[in-house]
Amino acid sequence: MSARSGTAVRRVVVVGGGTAGLMTACAAARAGWRVTVLESSRHPGGRARGPALGAHPVTLGPRALYKSSGWRMLRRLGVRPRGVTPAMGAARALRQGDLVPGYATPQGLLTTPLLSAREQLAAARLLGLARAAPGLAPFTGEQWLERRLPSSRAAETVFALMRMMAYVGSPAQLGADALAGRVAAARSGVLYVDGGWQSVVDALLLLARRLGVDIRTGARAVAVTAADRGPRVRWAEGGDEREETWDAAFVAGLTPSGAARLLGEPEPGTGPGLSTACLDVVLDRLPVPAVSLVYGVETPVYLGAEPAAARTAHPQGAVLHLARFDDGTPRSATDNRKELEQLLDVAQPGWRRHLVEERFMPRMRTMGALPHPSRGGLRGRPGPVTSVPGVFVAGDWVGGEGILLDAVGASTRQALDACRAYLSAED
Ligand SMILES: Cc1cc2nc3c(=O)[nH]c(=O)nc-3n(C[C@H](O)[C@H](O)[C@H](O)COP(=O)(O)OP(=O)(O)OC[C@H]3O[C@@H](n4cnc5c(N)ncnc54)[C@H](O)[C@@H]3O)c2cc1C
Repeated sequence: MSARSGTAVRRVVVVGGGTAGLMTACAAARAGWRVTVLESSRHPGGRARGPALGAHPVTLGPRALYKSSGWRMLRRLGVRPRGVTPAMGAARALRQGDLVPGYATPQGLLTTPLLSAREQLAAARLLGLARAAPGLAPFTGEQWLERRLPSSRAAETVFALMRMMAYVGSPAQLGADALAGRVAAARSGVLYVDGGWQSVVDALLLLARRLGVDIRTGARAVAVTAADRGPRVRWAEGGDEREETWDAAFVAGLTPSGAARLLGEPEPGTGPGLSTACLDVVLDRLPVPAVSLVYGVETPVYLGAEPAAARTAHPQGAVLHLARFDDGTPRSATDNRKELEQLLDVAQPGWRRHLVEERFMPRMRTMGALPHPSRGGLRGRPGPVTSVPGVFVAGDWVGGEGILLDAVGASTRQALDACRAYLSAED
């Protein structure tokens, strides 16, 4: 039955089975629509998956779930991730090869030897009050920090904390509104999810199946076009090419250029995305248990141990996630790996003797597009409505709210609202 036949059950398709696609599918099924998900890979979950590392599932790279838009969307669906709050008091700053304890909490900031008393106060004020104000849109994160902090040393030290929140290597890469918004999101709370992010994917999959969503893996969409009765999707599945018309379609979680290709639209001008080099290691024990969280100050690196409660591998051992953030300077994968191993040498000397498993991922796509003042900041990002009637986009580069999973949650909600309005106008 078509969208134009009023009382019929709506049939909608979701292209992409990552978190954006699964959240969209669950919410659409809750709305009473009949939902099909087309996911090109063999396993749904996309970038939130935690595939096996040796015998155990281990989240890819460091992960923190912010109690903001992504988390709110999950809770709206009834998915309530459990987890632990990271022990920020244990954090060390890596500065000129030394590990300096205690600066990642408000109290620590006010006493850290890394900053003068004046710098400490300004830093604490900035971290305590930052929010994604529209007035910040014309500025980069770098310009914002320079304006709000008394020295470049303070800017560098404070950004070392923000880097892990935003995943960017340099504050010049991101708009001030996006960076400040992420700091505000961090203030609402952060979770290391029990069982890693795969447990969130599993919960969404369980819910989707309970709601009768048809999830087709190995199904790659190749074109989404306008047809008389609604959007028409062509896809490849099991060696066959198929085509079907739906009442509405969502393109969820694809890259900006992937979505544009599918829709036959020009490149959206969203700017570059971002990749991060990640090293996951499983050790049979931590050589230095006290060093579980390290933020590089002048080098864009991070090390974090999964807390015992959230651990996904080796209950007696330790899982460490390390990241080398892209700061816009071209670097080889070999150099990035070397830098991360050097960080392990400093933080966990002797780690090689305890190594059980390791996984180096030279280029994990962490963000589909960087919101930047040259493109209007957060509010310059495209909305959920596309040029093809009845087709809506969601993902980490869509809509004016948040970055990373928060942008996914917010844009999913906006795409669903826009679809609801479209379908009711069709009645
Ligand atoms: C290493 C790493 C660490 C991260 N850490 C954090 C963090 O700490 N906090 C945070 O908030 N966010 C974090 N993120 C970001 C977060 O994981 C992503 O924002 C989120 O998972 C993106 O979900 P998505 O559904 O939008 O995209 P994806 O997960 O990329 O899903 C897109 C899906 O579409 C499928 N697909 C693509 N093309 C087609 C096609 N033509 N037809 C059918 N299917 C198709 C893909 O196979 C994929 O499954 C991290 C990301 C990475 C990589």
